[in-house]
Order: sequence, then C-alpha cells, then structure tokens
Amino acid sequence: MNVINFDFRNEVLKHNASLSYCYQCSTCSGGCPIALITNGKYNPRKIIEEAILGLQDKLIERQDPNPWLCSTCQRCVELCPQNVELTEIFTLIKNRCFENHKYPEAFYIQGHSVYENGVAIPYSNAIIVRRKNLGLPVIKTAPIEEIQMLMKETNFEKNILKGTE
Ligand code: SF4
Ligand code: SF4
Repeated sequence: MNVINFDFRNEVLKHNASLSYCYQCSTCSGGCPIALITNGKYNPRKIIEEAILGLQDKLIERQDPNPWLCSTCQRCVELCPQNVELTEIFTLIKNRCFENHKYPEAFYIQGHSVYENGVAIPYSNAIIVRRKNLGLPVIKTAPIEEIQMLMKETNFEKNILKGTE
C-alpha cells in the first residue's frame, strides 16, 4: 500500500519549488534516453508524480522507478514546458536514498575511489605513459586532503563507511 508522506512532499517542495508546476504531460519521459532503452521501466514523469504525492516509501525504499538510472543528461529539463527542474529534484531523492544505504554498488566503489584518490576512476600507469608519448600535458593531481575534508563535512565519508557495515 502506498502511504502519502506530507513531510517528505514538503521537503522536496522546499528543496525545489518547481515540482509544483508539473502537470504530468509526459514530455520528459518521451524525450528521456533511459526511458527509451528500458522500454519505459525508468520513467522520470513517474518519479515526479510520486514526489508530488509524497510517496517516500516508493521512491526511497522500493526505488520504483529507480532514480539511480538517470544519467543526468538534462534532456528532460530542456524539454519540460513547465520548467520543472527534474534533475535537481532527483538529487534530493538520491541523497535520501544514499542516507538509507539504498545506492548501487558502483556508486559506493566510485565514492570510495574519490575519497582515496580524488578521482572516480584513477589513471593507470599505462594511460599516463601513453599520454606522455603522445605529448599530452601531465594530469594535475586533485587536492585529496580538501576533497576528504569536504566529504567529511557533508557526511559522505560517514555514510559511505556505514555502507560497509
Ligand atoms: S515534462 Fe515537465 S510538466 Fe511534463 S510531466 Fe515532465 S516534469 Fe511534468
Ligand atoms: S536527466 Fe535523467 S530523467 Fe532526464 S532525460 Fe536525462 S536520463 Fe532521463
């Protein structure tokens, strides 16, 4: 049974008021490449509808549809006739999923890599040598201490570590 959670709906609205402009026309879903390749299983309009209705359980616990499938290509945002900022709204939903340890394994692995190396996918020695041979500039290393400080400040580190418990 779907339970309406008014607090959750208000939280999303407070995060991004454009949610209230949606009139469920489906233009976003019609233009979404992920909706296309999943035959509509992933559906941005549905996520917005569930947010409007405050269906926290469906969005966070059951992830139906799964917000992690969004590639953040912004096509839906460009197409929406009501200027609904879908990806901003999805960010809040994904943050809540993250806090509840509902995130894909790949996200955990990449989060850890950013914490350890400053980048999601570290460069291999072979790539570094090939770049040098091609005369490409040396890739600057990220300020890892600053990245780790930010991740600690935003509780990212704590939540990522919790995911391993
Ligand atoms: S295109 Fe905009 S108004 Fe239409 S369903 Fe999607 S979010 Fe709502
Ligand atoms: S940003 Fe996400 S929901 Fe919007 S069109 Fe791209 S993949 Fe689909």
